[in-house]
Amino acid sequence: ATSPGRTPREAATHCPYCALQCGMVLRDTGGRIEVRPRDFPTNRGGLCQKGWTAADLLDHPERLTTPLLRAPTGELRPASWAEAYHRIASRVRDIQTAYGRDAVAVFGGGGLTNEKAYALGRFARVTLGTRNIDYNGRFCMSSAAAAGLRAFGLDRGLPFPLADLGRADTLLLVGANPAETMPPLARYLTELRDRGGKLIVVDPRVTATARLADLHLQPLPGTDLAVANALLHVALTEGWVDREYVAARTEGFDAVRRIAASWWPARAERLSGVPVADLEATARALATVDNAIILTARGAEQHAKGVDTVSAFVNLALALGLPGRPGSGYGCLTGQGNGQGGREHGQKADQLPGYRKIDDPAAREHVAAVWGVRPEDLPGPGVSAYELLDSLGTPAGPKALLVFGSNPVVSAPRAARIEGRLRDLDLLVVADFLLSETAAIADVVLPTAQWAEEDGTMTNLEGRVLRRRALREPPPGVRTDLRVLADLAAVLPPAARRAARGGPAAEGGPAFGSGPASRGGTTGGTWPVVAGDPADPRLVFAELRRASAGGPADYAGVTWERIDAADGVFWPCPDEGGPDSPRMFTERFATPDGRARFQPVEHRPAAEEVCAEYPLYLTTGRVLAQYQSGTQTRRVAALRRAAPEPFVELHPELAARLDVAEGDELRVTSRRGELRAPARISAAIRPDTVFAPFHWGGAGRANSVTNDALDPVSRMPEFKVCAVRVEKVAR
Ligand code: SF4
Repeated sequence: ATSPGRTPREAATHCPYCALQCGMVLRDTGGRIEVRPRDFPTNRGGLCQKGWTAADLLDHPERLTTPLLRAPTGELRPASWAEAYHRIASRVRDIQTAYGRDAVAVFGGGGLTNEKAYALGRFARVTLGTRNIDYNGRFCMSSAAAAGLRAFGLDRGLPFPLADLGRADTLLLVGANPAETMPPLARYLTELRDRGGKLIVVDPRVTATARLADLHLQPLPGTDLAVANALLHVALTEGWVDREYVAARTEGFDAVRRIAASWWPARAERLSGVPVADLEATARALATVDNAIILTARGAEQHAKGVDTVSAFVNLALALGLPGRPGSGYGCLTGQGNGQGGREHGQKADQLPGYRKIDDPAAREHVAAVWGVRPEDLPGPGVSAYELLDSLGTPAGPKALLVFGSNPVVSAPRAARIEGRLRDLDLLVVADFLLSETAAIADVVLPTAQWAEEDGTMTNLEGRVLRRRALREPPPGVRTDLRVLADLAAVLPPAARRAARGGPAAEGGPAFGSGPASRGGTTGGTWPVVAGDPADPRLVFAELRRASAGGPADYAGVTWERIDAADGVFWPCPDEGGPDSPRMFTERFATPDGRARFQPVEHRPAAEEVCAEYPLYLTTGRVLAQYQSGTQTRRVAALRRAAPEPFVELHPELAARLDVAEGDELRVTSRRGELRAPARISAAIRPDTVFAPFHWGGAGRANSVTNDALDPVSRMPEFKVCAVRVEKVAR
């Protein structure tokens, strides 16, 4: 607890959890820390239960306040920071000397600040010299990111401010449940309906959001793409396509038109179960109003065809002429707190800061100059999150992994296998403020600061860069992630940096610090390049601005002062004195010729279909009172009371067939593993599908069952549909 008698102080900051980044004020009263909402454009004074209770973890008894080392007896024991760093540095040195630089990998998170995401990418590429870095955002919205890139030439979740929802006459939500995942956003939905607008929801479950809708389409999991093509078919046959817009602002419509022509609504109904009348009503509601918005989220994206599914809805939006008009358009609801910024600054396997491609020579040259290394010293692209995790500890894979802000033991698909891979590592290091399931199996655990104890920036679902402001210092024994990265960069021995890629150090490799910029006084293994404390987030942000300058996600004109003076700054913002970009694509898209690209996409079956042995579909998702892998929210008493345990939701008809009563323990088995949790019987789910939330580890871990089939473009795993068998566990 905070010291009695201390002067109360306040910090205007943002919730640590989801991408809505609700504005809140923290107040240290001397005895406890109060949270109250503040008026901010995304939450307009609202907070959900998670936000209200976010400060409960600051002085939580389970908080880590000292590094932990795995003892020879197998226990984690307290250790000093020096001991922990020594263990990491010596093991990294040995592993890279024996196996090459790529034998050490880094795994980041979509909740890390922009500064941390940037520093982590720099640490991996420069200090460790490894190509093996990716992050959990790959499991979140990489499909929408890839679809946005190929259609618009740029990936910004919402290319317009959230307030545009207030101008829409029709809103189509596909695989999104903001009434539970982002409750303050639900106000926009009720206001839309109060104005006489239409809300249409596409979801296999009758979610809290679907209950608010005028129309709910309840497709079989994995058939959203067919639904989108059928909606376009209706628009074509009814003459609702905006031909002027298509001719002036797009390319490639003919191929898309040919595919849509074959998606008669009756054909889509047979496949998806969505009635023809509902498909026609949806197309009409989108096409015959002044303003319409289509938003997708994880339900559409977390599939082995997630990119094509999102593309099908983007095609529909383009055909109706929606993107680029105020109050109209296509967008993606990002999930994690910094899901957007997290994928812009270099913790993705294929990217450098500024959303630059790591295999683009000009991008490498620019970033290498900022980092004080030679372009040829920068590693090339690595592999995606699941592929990286699945290669750990294998003969050809990395032997060490450093994890920041993620809990893959719970959040990765086919989680039992990934847990095994993590256990096979020679070195697993986890930086976290609680002992997550991944930290619990680590060799070294580093206790890190929480959101109220550090400054930095986050980029919310609108592409709005925000300020996270510290209320207090981290408690004794705890360090910020930036401090940890700077310390590790300082202690990692030069031998590690000299180790050759893919081979022993003796074979030789480019030495860091030997590049042209190094001769100007920098060393390739430390940062920031400017003088000062390398763990100072302001300095790291200053370097991030330079590294991003000229890239698609250009932050060069974003300063902390400018963010403070307004309600954030929208990227791209190339000049300090110039405008930012709240609304994009009004005149042109970010493609070379300014035109959006239609993508001809066809429905294909889920990677795994039901069969006699596994006759039901499983889909996964979230509940209001828990967040992601639950490391944080499962430890908040009020949230635990609201959502105490995992469950399996099944339809009453299915329950009757299986002779299952409410609360009976169920075993859900797929080809990859099993999940055990109590039954929750609800007519909200289709009779052919069961649902499980993914916030728990242990026996109730939903991801023990999920499918690791990957989208060929985004490498997104197929979390949202797999084939399972459900049985009652005999007592
Ligand atoms: Fe807002 Fe999301 Fe935090 Fe809830 S979890 S208060 S919706 S930012």
